[in-house]
Order: sequence, then structure tokens, then C-alpha cells
Amino acid sequence: MITILFDIDGTLVRSGGAGMLAIEHVMKQMFGVREIGKVEVHGRTDNGILEELFELESLSFDEHRSEFNERYWSKLPETLGRCPGTLLPGVKELLAALQRDENVAMGILTGNSKRAAEIKLQHFEIDEYFEFGGYGDIHTNRNDVAAMARSSAEHCLAQAFEPEHLWVVGDTVNDIACARSIASKVVAVETGGGLNEKLSDAQPDVLFPTLADTAAFLEAVVGKTTSTSMETASTRTKDHNKRMR
Ligand SMILES: [Mg+2]
Repeated sequence: MITILFDIDGTLVRSGGAGMLAIEHVMKQMFGVREIGKVEVHGRTDNGILEELFELESLSFDEHRSEFNERYWSKLPETLGRCPGTLLPGVKELLAALQRDENVAMGILTGNSKRAAEIKLQHFEIDEYFEFGGYGDIHTNRNDVAAMARSSAEHCLAQAFEPEHLWVVGDTVNDIACARSIASKVVAVETGGGLNEKLSDAQPDVLFPTLADTAAFLEAVVGKTTSTSMETASTRTKDHNKRMR
């Protein structure tokens, strides 16, 4: 079984600033904050971002976490509807192709809180593809999120989980680093818009400009070439299924 953990923002979708807009709204509503501070968001967790934003206002996120999150999650669907967000190129086709392969299981590895991740995936109508995940509700360090995603996959797939066939797909150097922390291979994709990040310096196993080339992704991660060796691929699948039984 090949297990693939996808980052959300900058990898599968661009939400056009919907998350920050919702955060800004709730900060204003709860604390009268007119303008929230500027903080780095790429490759970080919701918990880390919010701790920093709260600190800038001399507030404790821990103290207000549950009320803040409830308000954030109820605002997010509306800001997603208002912002110019989009599914990134090729994502729908890639997820559909991977779903058709019974040797592939897909999960989420995101800095978003779990509920925010679900809302975003539902908004872009790709929630059905993912069976497990790691989220940024309580972790500040993305490596902890990666560990959560990996154990969620292990738990969900049980004996079918093969650690040597674990992949992370992400758009920042943090995604690459957290993949290495769980001994995962990495596909990096340059659709994120992280500032001054050179993904190639962080040495992902595979680097794509976008996820638009489904065949190239399948070949690199699943080990299949779609055009020339369909027969080999289906034979391998059958052999694999025999082993599984
Ligand atoms: Mg990202």
C-alpha cells in the first residue's frame, strides 16, 4: 500500500486569503483588534500562527482557544465563498486517478486545524478522497503534525501500512522537513507562493512546478507509466493483491 499525505494550502488549493480574513473578523469581534499583525503563514500550523497573533495583542490563545476556534470555523465557509480561491491545476484529476488505484491510500498533513481543513476540503469538493490525517489544532511544530498524520494512517490502514511507501506532498520547505522527520519521501510542488523559498535546496525526492501532470506524478510515486506499461502495472497490482491476502 502506498500512503500519500497531502498538504492543503498551496498544494491542493489556494483559498485566496479566506483563512486570514476569517481570523481577522473574529479578532475584531472578540477583542476589538482593528488590524491584525503580519505573521508568516506558509508551512505553519494554525496553533503556531494564532499563538503569535495573540501574543502581538498581549493575549493568550490558550485562554480563548475554544471560543475563538468556534467563531473561526463558523466564519470560514463565508470567507471561502467571498475570496478568489481555487483548486490548483490538475488536483481533481490526480486525486481521482489515485483513488482508482486500490494500492493507494490518501490522507491529509496540514497546519490547519481539523475542522478548518474539513471546511476547506468540502468547499472545494475534494473531501471524499481522504481517509486520515494530521492537523495543526494543538501543535506548533509541523513535525508533530507529521507524526500525527503518520500514526493516523497506521491506525487506519493497520497491517496494510508500509512505512517504506510513505509520501508527503507539499509546497514549502517545512513540508519537506516534516516529511523527513517521519522517514517519508516527498513530492514538492511550486504552487505555494512561499516567499524566497527554494524548494530544490531542501532536496525533495521529486519537484514539480504544479500537480498538472498526472502521469508524471503516478510514475514517480506509484511507479506506473500510464501509456506504455499498463500491462506491467496491472500485473503488479494483481501480484500485490495476492500478497495482501
Ligand atoms: Mg502549504
